[in-house]
Amino acid sequence: MKITIGGWFKLPRMGTAVFSALMKEGVKYDRESGFMLSSDTDIESAVRTIGSALSEPVELSVRCFICLNPACEGCPYFEVCDRRRVSSMCLCREHSGRRDIYDSYQKTFLSTLGE
Ligand SMILES: [Zn+2]
Repeated sequence: MKITIGGWFKLPRMGTAVFSALMKEGVKYDRESGFMLSSDTDIESAVRTIGSALSEPVELSVRCFICLNPACEGCPYFEVCDRRRVSSMCLCREHSGRRDIYDSYQKTFLSTLGE
């Protein structure tokens, strides 16, 4: 299954052992929205837990820090990028090529600090 880091996703009903493992690994849970992998999540372990619970591989993607769109599509580093280890926020193709990007990055970063 495909999971975007920082985005909600649903999982089929799984046993309490799996659920408590995911909670221990820092996966966010919301009764309405489902599950979310965030920067607080031990992503490597969570991916292993989900993958073995579903018996299918988990394909991770990350979002753009600026526009929150999926950042992996068309990325030249997709094949070599270990998305279990990189930051949960990347830059999409549009934003990674811009000269004024440091400004936007800084603004977005500062606004997350204010939350
Ligand atoms: Zn972007």
